[in-house]
Amino acid sequence: MIETSLIGFSRGEQTDSTFHAVNPKTGTNLETAYSHSTEGEVQLSCEIAQLATQSMAALSTKDKAGFIRLVADRIDGAVDQIVSVMTAETGLPEARVRGETGRTSGQLRMFADLVEEGSWVDARIDRAIPERPPIPKPDLRAMLRPIGPVAVFCASNFPLAFSVAGGDTASAWAAGCPVIVKAHHAHPGTALLVGQLIVQAVKESGLPAGAFSLLFGEGRTIGQALVKNSLIKAVGFTGSRSGGRALFDLASQRKEPIPVFAEMSSINPIFLLPELAKEKMEEIAEGLYTSATLGVGQFCTNPGVVFYPDNEEGAIFRDAYVEKMKSFTASSMLHRGIRESYDLEIQEIAKQEGVEELFRSDAPAGDGGCEVGTCVLSTTLDSFLNNSKLASEIFGPATLLVSYQNKDDLLKVANGLEGQLTASLFGLDENLSEYENLLDILETKAGRLLFNQFPTGVEVCESMVHGGPYPATTDSRSTSVGTGAILRFARPVCYQGFPDILLPVELREGNLTKISRKEN
Ligand code: NAP
Repeated sequence: MIETSLIGFSRGEQTDSTFHAVNPKTGTNLETAYSHSTEGEVQLSCEIAQLATQSMAALSTKDKAGFIRLVADRIDGAVDQIVSVMTAETGLPEARVRGETGRTSGQLRMFADLVEEGSWVDARIDRAIPERPPIPKPDLRAMLRPIGPVAVFCASNFPLAFSVAGGDTASAWAAGCPVIVKAHHAHPGTALLVGQLIVQAVKESGLPAGAFSLLFGEGRTIGQALVKNSLIKAVGFTGSRSGGRALFDLASQRKEPIPVFAEMSSINPIFLLPELAKEKMEEIAEGLYTSATLGVGQFCTNPGVVFYPDNEEGAIFRDAYVEKMKSFTASSMLHRGIRESYDLEIQEIAKQEGVEELFRSDAPAGDGGCEVGTCVLSTTLDSFLNNSKLASEIFGPATLLVSYQNKDDLLKVANGLEGQLTASLFGLDENLSEYENLLDILETKAGRLLFNQFPTGVEVCESMVHGGPYPATTDSRSTSVGTGAILRFARPVCYQGFPDILLPVELREGNLTKISRKEN
């Protein structure tokens, strides 16, 4: 059986160029083949998205929220099918698939609520003052409007929540934008299943066909053609630093450059302060183990580097952590490419001067070639400071432990860090004021700061920031999780001297939509 792309309400053509998903547990190709989209299909999907742009932008909040809720309901209703397809394509356990299904539909409903409440449009009203000296003040009103067709790249590590109907798509629809999704080659069946549910919801909601398309194909051809297409106005991406950077550069080189919101790499540093007692260190080792091995370490917030004090308590932490990591049962990663990168990244770091391998599992790769065990490497602060390679991400259940001597060391190392999604500090409340300088530095480095907590488990809510300075993302002003994600796909428009009837309803006199507005 050969499946093809979804171009609005039509299907793409069957081509000779096909690919299969691979079961990471067995290494065998799954039955269904998927045709790579053609460049003509990329163009067609962009053209119908362009045609849909105005009607999507003009949707009432009720209709937009109703559509997004319908997609959420359809996804919940298909959870058993999703479990069957997604577990085969990813090797993820059923509980994780069910959990991620709920997270995805919950995220969609959160955006539906946001749209219905309406204040996200950031309405600002400055009424005219005709008699103002020396010149009259005109009537000025501004609000956020949709940016236009958005290209979304599915992530390998969240086949639902950061994929076809994930946070990027949900926030782009909520802003009023049509979406074209480029499926990930590792889970095309999951993408198609969700894509077909969306197409039904688009039809039932009376939205235009171009509100949604799904393309199969390689990043370097189809993905790049999509980003280069002049009808695309923004890009959402989660994946590798090289992939995100390539798309960012491509988008910047277009005749009309567009924003690329790429969430890429982060080592999510953890700082253990020297005042921590032995018992606390043991507790942290336990918690860190759970965080670093969750999802076989394939989370963007996985804690990859820990700075620990070179004292007795620090040694207790290090030894307890190594023992915990030894207890990990080898598990399957999402696809062979990720597994191979994991091995290479460990080898690369382990061979650097001053790095010691405290533990490295010799578990075989299993039938599918995707199983891995854990790894703990260690080094000194001087080695870390003198070799930027040691600060690169190992995507998987590996941790680099870095010992430090004093508070100045912490400031030095924090200053030298690249941008991060998160930075975590473990210490005592009463000592925290001594580390204000460290916190000030970390605030410039990370999108989310944690105190005595581990970074994995990203809550989906109003105040979440899942972003950070480069290379955590390509735009430190953005978040890809939480309601703030909508701002990536909207732009401010100001209306000067307009009669009330011609203004968007949110800006009219009387505040009929009852949203929160900044007036005068
Ligand atoms: P990836 O290789 O970056 O792929 C993600 C998507 O981008 C895929 O659709 C891919 O297309 C496309 N792509 C990649 N390079 C491209 C390029 N140069 N031009 C255009 N499109 C491109 O990421 P992945 O498959 O998820 O995993 C590989 C590695 O990414 C992991 O080992 C890990 O290091 C990193 N990763 C990081 C995070 C994070 O949040 N920090 C999350 C996931 C993965 P194809 O379908 O052709 O591959």
